Amino acid sequence: MLTAHNLTRSFDDLTAVRNVTLSLAAGQLVALVGASGSGKSTLLNLLAGLLDADKGTIALNGQPVAGPKDRLVAGHPQIRVVHQEYQLMPNVSIRDNIAYALRYYERAYRDQRVNELLRLCRLEAVQHHKPRETSGGEKQRTAIARAIAEPARVLLLDEPFSHLDLPNRLLIRDVLIDLVRGTDSATNPGSGTACLFVTHDASDALSISDQIGLLQRGRLIQLDTPRRVYSQPKNAYAASLTGPINLIRGKHLPALGLPAVTNGDTEYGIRPEHIQIDPTGPVSGRVEGVFFQGRDTELLVRINRFVCLRVLTSQPDVAVGDEIRLRIVAKNLLTFS
Ligand code: ADP
Ligand code: MG
Repeated sequence: MLTAHNLTRSFDDLTAVRNVTLSLAAGQLVALVGASGSGKSTLLNLLAGLLDADKGTIALNGQPVAGPKDRLVAGHPQIRVVHQEYQLMPNVSIRDNIAYALRYYERAYRDQRVNELLRLCRLEAVQHHKPRETSGGEKQRTAIARAIAEPARVLLLDEPFSHLDLPNRLLIRDVLIDLVRGTDSATNPGSGTACLFVTHDASDALSISDQIGLLQRGRLIQLDTPRRVYSQPKNAYAASLTGPINLIRGKHLPALGLPAVTNGDTEYGIRPEHIQIDPTGPVSGRVEGVFFQGRDTELLVRINRFVCLRVLTSQPDVAVGDEIRLRIVAKNLLTFS
C-alpha cells in the first residue's frame, strides 16, 4: 500500500538515505533497525512526505506522496507520524491533546472517540493531567493515541519504545499489534493499518514485526522476516543489529573444533546460544566473565590468545576461573555474503 522506490536524500555532502526501496502493506508491522545516525528518522520523514527526497518516489495506493515543497500543508492526510519527541501541547490536558486531533468532528462523536482512545491506551487515570504531570510512558501513549485518533492508512513511529520501562513497552506493543491487525474494531473499522516503527532494540523488532529492515549508513541492507534476518544476516553488522554475535576469522575455526576454511581472513559468526557447554566437547576454555541475565547467564570464555567467546547458558553453577568444555555445531556457523 505504501511503496517507496529508490529514495535518496542528502544533507550537504552527507547521504542520510541512499537508494531505499520498500513497501508496506495493510496489517503489516515492519521494524526499522539501525545504529544511531543510520538514517532511520530521515527515512521516516521522507515516507511521511515531511521531507523532500533528492531522488526516488513514494506512493500510497498508487497515488504519489508529495514532499513539502509540492504541498501547502506538509504531510499526507492518511499517513500519521509519531516523532521521537512527542510534541504534545504543554498547556492542555492529556484528554484535550487527544481531542485536538478530532477537532473537526462533532462534539458527541469526539467525546466518545476520545474515551475509546483513553481506554485503549490506558490513559483514563491521567486524562485531566497536563503532559508535565505525566510519566514518559503516558506521554508516549498520548502521542500514539493522538496519531490513531482518526483512522489512518499508515502509521510511522519513531522509536516508540525508547525511554519506556518494560510494562510500558509491553502495553504499547499490545496497542500497536491490535491496531495493525485490525482487532481493535473501534480504532480500525475495516482492514488493519500499515505500521513502520523505528527501534534500536532488536528484541522489540524480533518479537512483534512481520518484517525487519536493517539500515546501515543510509542503505537498507536487508529486509526480511525476523527469523531470516536473525538466522541469515547479510553481514557482520546486520548480525550484530539483531542480537549478540561472536565474530571469528576463518583461521581460528579449527581451534573451535570446526572444519578449516581456505580463506583465513573471512569473517564468520556464531550466536552465543549456539555454543553448548558439553563435558565431552572438543574445545576447552576458561571462564573470564559471568553475567546473570535472569533466565539465562552469559559467559565470556577465553579459548586462546585470539578468541574469546560469548556463550549463553541456562546452567547457573559456572564461576569465573572455571575450565569448561564447549561444542559448536558447524551448521550454526553464520557465513556472510
Ligand atoms: P537516525 O534516526 O538513524 O539516528 P537520522 O535520520 O536522524 O538518523 O540522521 C541520519 C544522518 O543525517 C545523521 O548523520 C544526521 O546527522 C544527518 N541529518 C539528519 N537530519 C539532518 C538535517 N536536517 N541537516 C543535516 N544533517 C542531518
Ligand atoms: Mg532518529
